[in-house]
Amino acid sequence: MARVYNFSAGPAVLPEPVLKKAAAEMLDCNGTGMSVMEMSHRSKDYEAIINGAEAHLRALMNIPANYKVLFLQGGASSQFAMVPLNLLGKNGKADFINTGTWSKKAISEAKRYGTANVVATSEDKNFSYIPKVAKDRFDPQASYVHITSNNTIEGTKYAAFPDTGSVPLVADMSSNILSEVMDVTKFGIIYAGAQKNIGPAGVCVVIVREDLIGKALDITPTMFNYEIHAKEKSLYNTPPTYGIYIAKLVFEWMLEMGGVPAMEKINKDKAKILYDFIDNSGLFKGTAAKEDRSIMNVPFTLPSDELTEKCLKEAKQNGLVQLKGHRSVGGLRASIYNAMPVDGVKKLVDFLKKFEAANK
Ligand code: PMP
Repeated sequence: MARVYNFSAGPAVLPEPVLKKAAAEMLDCNGTGMSVMEMSHRSKDYEAIINGAEAHLRALMNIPANYKVLFLQGGASSQFAMVPLNLLGKNGKADFINTGTWSKKAISEAKRYGTANVVATSEDKNFSYIPKVAKDRFDPQASYVHITSNNTIEGTKYAAFPDTGSVPLVADMSSNILSEVMDVTKFGIIYAGAQKNIGPAGVCVVIVREDLIGKALDITPTMFNYEIHAKEKSLYNTPPTYGIYIAKLVFEWMLEMGGVPAMEKINKDKAKILYDFIDNSGLFKGTAAKEDRSIMNVPFTLPSDELTEKCLKEAKQNGLVQLKGHRSVGGLRASIYNAMPVDGVKKLVDFLKKFEAANK
């Protein structure tokens, strides 16, 4: 079967050149006579892979020397616990902005270890917007402020990040890391599950400022302690070796494409093609507030469940798959991560136009 255009929210589409390179190296990676999956994580060959992945990510995101880059397991969901366990030591409280399903999960997990204050929420409108929070709303004594930079399910993102003063800003960037230029120095911690813009599920990237390391609560499990992973350069135990290798290939692909500024331009072009169509459609309707719209996840609805089902079915027949919206928003959702080509979005819009004409 021909490759489809995969609009899944994650695990998601990967760049075709990366998949081809991985296939070519499956039986013999770099003259070792073995697959990366069969290599010792302590070998020189593997060291070159994990160090390469880190160096590429540092180059792509312009990560300063006083930040550690960790390749961990347990998904972004483990960070919902790992962040409070490592950071709450100061005085046991943190501020949160609640912008959706994943923010809520981060909040409820933090509550197990201390006080989680919800400073602002957009729950009143089904999380269709990002609340604007002035600096004086944050507790200057909080250990950190947590945000979800892009809300995968609700299709919103921060147009501008909040100013938290000297309180470290922690961002769950799972669904928009590497999608646009971001200033890492504005954050204490950035974390992201890999399965959207980085690589396969099973790797979680954590970028953490050095002064936030080494203060974990006593109850912190060894595997949840940033200090251990930073000291051991993500090799305290066996890391997700193959996932990190694919991440390295994705980073190389991105560098060849022109890095994050080039990706940002393509991503904005793709999002514009789709939003322009939705905004001018008499049938499809966007669900997120315009000024807060994500350029990675685009939810939109049809007037009835029957039409939605029909649309999904016909889209699939046209090689456009994984477009079903999350049940909390309904309708459709097109996730258009870095690896989704412009052509995929054009094909989607062509299809939606025809569907609209036939179902007016
Ligand atoms: N945060 C966000 C913004 C997400 O989109 C997801 C997964 N879709 C998660 C956290 C949870 O990630 P994981 O499944 O890797 O734990």
